[in-house]
Amino acid sequence: MISLLKSIYRFFIKRPIVKITSIFNKTGNKHKCYVCENTFNSFTKYGRGTKYLSEYMKKLNMVGSDIDNFGCPYCSAHDRERHLYMFFDRIKLWEKISHSNILHFAPEKNLAEKIKSLNPKQHIRADFYPKQKNIEKIDATDIPYDNNTFDLLLCNHVLEHIPNYFKAIQEIFRVLKPNGIAILQTPYSKLLSRNLEEENINTDEQRHFFYGENDHYRVFSEKQFFEDLKKVGFNLKIIKNSDFFDEKTSIYYGINAKEDLVQVIKPSS
Ligand SMILES: [Zn+2]
Repeated sequence: MISLLKSIYRFFIKRPIVKITSIFNKTGNKHKCYVCENTFNSFTKYGRGTKYLSEYMKKLNMVGSDIDNFGCPYCSAHDRERHLYMFFDRIKLWEKISHSNILHFAPEKNLAEKIKSLNPKQHIRADFYPKQKNIEKIDATDIPYDNNTFDLLLCNHVLEHIPNYFKAIQEIFRVLKPNGIAILQTPYSKLLSRNLEEENINTDEQRHFFYGENDHYRVFSEKQFFEDLKKVGFNLKIIKNSDFFDEKTSIYYGINAKEDLVQVIKPSS
C-alpha cells in the first residue's frame, strides 16, 4: 500500500512539478550557459548544493566546483567545463588545438566534441573507468605513451581521485613535449599548508566529511600542490579568474570566481 502511494506521488505529483519547474526555469534569463548559449533562471545543483558539503569542507573554504550552480539545464555542461571554455577563449588556447597532440583525461562531453571539431593532430580521450568505446582505459600514473608525445594535456578535477597523484603529475610531465601545456584543475584549500591525506580516513563517510567526496583521496593544500608541480619540473602560469571575469560575469555564467586556471608548462630545457 505504501509503495503504491509512493508511486502515485511520484508519477502524478512529483514528476509534473519537476516538469513545470523545468519549463518555467528555461523561460528566464538570470543566467547563461557559456557552452550552449541558452539562458534560464537557475543552474541545476550538484546533490543538494552547498547543503551537500560537510562543515569541515565549509570551514576550509574550498576552491572547487560551484555546486549550487553546477549543471546547464540544456546541455548539462558543468561549471568546471564551462569555466575552461571561458578561459580558453581568453587565452586563445583553441587556436593551438588544430596542430596539437592532445591527451584529455575524464573528457567532458561538450569540450571533447569542441576539440574534435577543431581537427587536432591526435586527440586521446582517457579514463581509468572508460564508459564509451572512444575513450581509452589509461592509468594516469602509468601513461602508455612515449616521452614528449603531447602538446596539450587536460586533467580537469581528476587528481583528487588518484591515490598516487605525485606519480600522475610526474607522468604528465614525462609525456608532454617541451613547451607543452597541461591544465590541472583540482579542488584545494588556501588555508592548509600541507595536503590532508590520512591512512585512517578510509570510510565513505570520513572521506566525504574530510575530503569532500567519497571517492576523493585527499584535500589538496594550494601551497603543497603548487610546490609539487614545481618539484616535478613544471613552470606554473596560473591565470586568475579576476584577470578576465568580474563578479557579475562569474555569477551570470555560473562559475566559481575563486577558481583560477592552473596552467603548467614543461620547460624547453
Ligand atoms: Zn548549456
